[in-house]
Amino acid sequence: MVGDKQHRIAFAYHNPNWIFGEDKREDLEKAEQVTPAEYRHEMRGAIFCPECTTPLSRAPEEKELFTNSRTAHFRHRKAFKHIACSLRVSRGAGLQYHSEEEVKRAVQNENLVLVGGWAEHPPEILIDETLEDFEFRQTQIVDPDGPITEIPLGRHTGKKVLLPTRITSVLSICRGFDKNIHRAFFLPDSQYALHLRDLLYDVARLDEMDLPQRPNLYFGRIERYARLTFRNIIYLKVQNFPELKIYTYPTFDERKRIDQGSIGRVMLFYGAISSAGEGIPRFKTENWGEYSLLPSQYEKFLPWS
Ligand SMILES: [Zn+2]
Repeated sequence: MVGDKQHRIAFAYHNPNWIFGEDKREDLEKAEQVTPAEYRHEMRGAIFCPECTTPLSRAPEEKELFTNSRTAHFRHRKAFKHIACSLRVSRGAGLQYHSEEEVKRAVQNENLVLVGGWAEHPPEILIDETLEDFEFRQTQIVDPDGPITEIPLGRHTGKKVLLPTRITSVLSICRGFDKNIHRAFFLPDSQYALHLRDLLYDVARLDEMDLPQRPNLYFGRIERYARLTFRNIIYLKVQNFPELKIYTYPTFDERKRIDQGSIGRVMLFYGAISSAGEGIPRFKTENWGEYSLLPSQYEKFLPWS
């Protein structure tokens, strides 16, 4: 399932006055973030890659021909082929790091995020887990330090490097999601790092007959919410079977402010969906760190099917 995403660039920066090779990256990053679906003809020549900052093209150029946002995408230009960029359409299975230095540099530059596991309990400091508030997005990561994780080097070398991890919650992935969407993530038990957009899987595309066995990072829209005594059930919108139940703990939902009012919102979670037992696809969350609401303003950056 992973790797079938054809379009990696969730948004481009739009600034008609910014010039590649002359103006500062920091200035570009203040510009409007435009998705392929939001692109308008007059933006031609004024949209730039969020990673390498070279000018991009939108394909197809004529918007009216393709209203389906899944078909529309941003493309690097051949004239800038000599500028390295990890968002260029890929070589396939994951990003490769060839030395310990290279991995450390990627982590330092925040191009690579290492996830060590999912925190069992929330941090003690009380934070607004709905993340709707812009101020909050600027605050420090408060995840408890994660474990040391092993990152494989190269594909066939068998060499590994041990590094500490800082991210232990899906909440941290949802925070600053516009920055995270173009970063590479190394999730627990992974073979390699992938861009977040390549890791995210739309639950609407799941097929009951063919549920992936291994855990994935999923997203879906909440369509129903039920309060039980010991567990709550969040129902996510699906297409190929009647319902998908996510079991959660009431205390965690309260902290995350997930309730009836969250119907219509998008939730991200990491786990393995199973239809064993009662025969209905479901996932039982155990840890606080495994799920979070996504701030509504970021929904357009998701790889919707
Ligand atoms: Zn680029």
